Amino acid sequence: MRYIFGPVYSRRFGISLGIDLSPDKKRCNFDCLYCELDRAKPVDRYDNPPESEEIVREVKEFLERNEYPDVITVTANGEPTLYPYLDKLIDQLKEIKGKSKLLILSNGSTIYNPSIRRSLSKLDIVKLSLDAADEKIFRKVDRGLKNIKVSQIIEGMKAFRKEFSGELIIEILVVKYVNDSVENIKKIVQALKEIKPDRVDLGTVDRPPAYRVFPVSNERLHQLAGYLKDFNVNVVERKYDKSYQFDLSKEDIINTISKRPLTEEDIQNTFSLESKKILEKLLKENVVKKEEKDGMFFYMLNSKLLLH
Ligand code: SF4
Repeated sequence: MRYIFGPVYSRRFGISLGIDLSPDKKRCNFDCLYCELDRAKPVDRYDNPPESEEIVREVKEFLERNEYPDVITVTANGEPTLYPYLDKLIDQLKEIKGKSKLLILSNGSTIYNPSIRRSLSKLDIVKLSLDAADEKIFRKVDRGLKNIKVSQIIEGMKAFRKEFSGELIIEILVVKYVNDSVENIKKIVQALKEIKPDRVDLGTVDRPPAYRVFPVSNERLHQLAGYLKDFNVNVVERKYDKSYQFDLSKEDIINTISKRPLTEEDIQNTFSLESKKILEKLLKENVVKKEEKDGMFFYMLNSKLLLH
């Protein structure tokens, strides 16, 4: 499988089958300080994008042999709304998704564009990011292409809310010393009053980031959440309320870990006994490595050894 990964347990959305629209390299118009992917120069388009049919074929095959996940998540090694055939892909996924919900995880940068809004409005859940509401902090944390303005993004979000009847989630990711001030949160609150999201997810750096930046404490997250009390705010902490055991093959495990480092807890809660054994073997063979970051252990691909 080239484009799908998981299923993985997502703290916010439940069991999620991921679709990666850019499996070969990072293609993003931002270069966020907290990005889990390697650093890469921001771009505004996908070169050589895959056909939507190739992606849909993989999703269909998965759904034929497995339980429907809670969500099918359109994402990318980068920004999924830069994928040129997104509208067609969404239409095709809607035909096969069964009881699963369709979700996109976008950085929000293209939401000012009416044709992107039309495509996203066909989904069940849309998650957009808003880490700052003024240009200076936005530039510091998200480091997007020069022509991207957060004022334009906020206007796009307001327009989208009027057009979209599904669940709109705004995610704020807080980086210590960068966008964790009360002043920044208060400015975001002003924008949110007009955007009227269904939920606000407030989180912090969680997986090993591209740059040397730091998370805020849970205590600080809860303090900041106090300023968001007029909204349905979800402070993102690690928790598992469902236990699923998926049989992932060696290839599935490598593919999943290459896209997202997994914690010990992720493995315990989603891997079957057989898959755990395969992971142990991959560790012994040095294909996968286990690294400690800020007191947590992450399983990640030993990229030096994998030349695919
Ligand atoms: S928008 Fe997402 S993929 Fe792009 S740089 Fe930021 S965190 Fe990374």
